Amino acid sequence: MESGLSASMWSDLLAQIRLTHPQVVRAWFTQLAPTALRGGVLAIRAANGAQARYLENHCRNAFSEAAMAATGRLVSVEFAAEQDDPADAAIAEESAHLRPRLMPELTFDNFVTGPCNRLAHASSLAVARDPGRTYNPLFLYGSVGLGKTHLLQAICHQVTAAAPERRCFYLSCETFANDYMEAFEQGAMHRFRQRYREADLLVIDDIQFLSARERSQEEFFHTFNTLVQAGKQIVLSADCSPGDIPRLEQRLISRFHSGLVSVLDRPCLETRIAIVRRKAAMRCIEVADDVVQLIASRIDGNVRELEGALTRLDAMSQAEEKPITFELARRAIGEGSLRTPPIAAIMEVVAGRMEVSVADLQSKKRAKSVTLPRHVCMYVTREVTQRSFEEIGGFFGGRDHTTVLHAHRTIAERLDTDHQLRSIVHEIVEDVRRTAH
Ligand code: ADP
Ligand code: MG
Repeated sequence: MESGLSASMWSDLLAQIRLTHPQVVRAWFTQLAPTALRGGVLAIRAANGAQARYLENHCRNAFSEAAMAATGRLVSVEFAAEQDDPADAAIAEESAHLRPRLMPELTFDNFVTGPCNRLAHASSLAVARDPGRTYNPLFLYGSVGLGKTHLLQAICHQVTAAAPERRCFYLSCETFANDYMEAFEQGAMHRFRQRYREADLLVIDDIQFLSARERSQEEFFHTFNTLVQAGKQIVLSADCSPGDIPRLEQRLISRFHSGLVSVLDRPCLETRIAIVRRKAAMRCIEVADDVVQLIASRIDGNVRELEGALTRLDAMSQAEEKPITFELARRAIGEGSLRTPPIAAIMEVVAGRMEVSVADLQSKKRAKSVTLPRHVCMYVTREVTQRSFEEIGGFFGGRDHTTVLHAHRTIAERLDTDHQLRSIVHEIVEDVRRTAH
């Protein structure tokens, strides 16, 4: 198994592609060879440059999906030709760093939407469907780890999938600035301009790095105008709005505002839950609902941190050869370092939202108007503080742990069907978490 992929896995992989993407399959696929599987990258060798290019342009997703299915791991693919045509190689080298090296999983399908990113997602989708004709430029901004790069790459994936002949350049702002400096120093500005102005879609990530780079700003301004006037699409991202990028020329700020500026906010609890579920499913990690809930409620910074928690959890479960349990998840997210809101604070929030008194929550009253808020309060306490059922029972007028367990289960079940209750509980959890900060 020199390549790290067994012969049977490779034939499963090809069979899967025939099944799921029959339209891209070619007879010569039988001559392809997997050469290495290292660091999550499966290298595949084609007989010549034309085949490698075909694979690159049309089959990236098909192969990486099938590779993930065959290996059960997150895998991206790389295609190489056995013997490259020298003329092809020269052209390819010229703009190699501009061609998108996209992460196969950063697609629209894998992007979870919620109130925090709905507009950014919808505008990205609109641009990807009809580049150059809707919002130009599209400018996405938001703080780190909220999905800017994901949406930018999703646009590239979709545009190249729909029309492989379209020239789609995806690059970081630093690449642009360095490229410019290099061309400038070598007196090769003509070639630089020609190269960039060939783009049908120019996507530049983290444009805030143009800050204080005067000459790059000047050059970018001209590139921008030329492309937009020619009806080519520009998509940009930054960690703040155009006006907040320090030392950015006014004329660029106003150009950036001439299309659509969309913000990505921090995801709410419901969106975080959906994201954890999606990421777990993508990596074939089985996580029970209480674990998903725990991760999503404890980690509310950004999506990258959510993914990090899931990765840690998966790694711990593999290293310790244990299934993923609630306890393991608590350790994976470093329970000790997190602030837990006091139960009294939770009672206050529930009492306020559900119109009962704190005294009633702790009383033995059995009227329905009191038992539902009490059950909600027990449920939220368990979810947010992870205290034991016994401990929680103690706070609610010395109740037995089975009472708390029962209350928790009743609410958890009702949340599946009762939308109104679900939104009340979500709001309570959000409020409680806010008071804990
Ligand atoms: P940014 O560029 O804004 O710093 P990224 O796009 O790199 O953030 O996102 C960080 C990680 O979080 C990526 O792995 C990305 O797939 C994931 N991510 C962010 N937002 C979402 C979302 N709404 N749905 C699914 N994954 C997301
Ligand atoms: Mg990014």
